[in-house]
Amino acid sequence: MGMSSWIDISVPLYTGMVHWPDNPPVRIERMKNIDEGDVANVSAMSMGVHTGTHVDAPIHFVHGGRGVHLAPFEALIGPARIIEIKDTHAVKVNELEHHDIQPGERLLFKTLNSTRCWRTDDFIEDFVYISQAAARYLSDRHVQTVGVDYLSVGGFTTDAEETHQALLSAGIWIIEGLNLSAVEPGIYELACLPLKIVDSDGAPARAVLAAR
Ligand SMILES: [Zn+2]
Repeated sequence: MGMSSWIDISVPLYTGMVHWPDNPPVRIERMKNIDEGDVANVSAMSMGVHTGTHVDAPIHFVHGGRGVHLAPFEALIGPARIIEIKDTHAVKVNELEHHDIQPGERLLFKTLNSTRCWRTDDFIEDFVYISQAAARYLSDRHVQTVGVDYLSVGGFTTDAEETHQALLSAGIWIIEGLNLSAVEPGIYELACLPLKIVDSDGAPARAVLAAR
């Protein structure tokens, strides 16, 4: 692996940041404060596990599925391909067909979301998502991992459940909430490590890429 330069594709976590509308807000608070006479600064945080850059575990949509603490390192560390999606509505089969997708691939989709959606703390409803047909296409091709650049692989009003189901029930690991605006399409080394939260349906993660 090239040690040259790591590119951070995670989004920053802070109080008041964007989150899925019916999920809890992010609150990060200083509970002890040196400026107020405490011996150390100590913070507490509260957030939903599907906020910011995070990994979805099968149990998020699959009854009896694995929790995020069982995420295999192989799915989240290794070569990954950034595919640029031109469609400004959804990732669709007709566009995926041009990319010669192979079994075992880790795919990260760079869409309009990366430059559009993270500039605001307001939730963007019409973000680019993966259509349920495209999700089934990806599971038919036995990809290993799928990453997207906003808060869900599925859409806000359509294909939310179907797209998650198609990917998670096929054993595909999902990374959501990436910011790929600084990355050109191509093959990189990916490292993404979700927090080891026992039996959780998701977990915040740090994700980085290195040029190969
Ligand atoms: Zn999620």
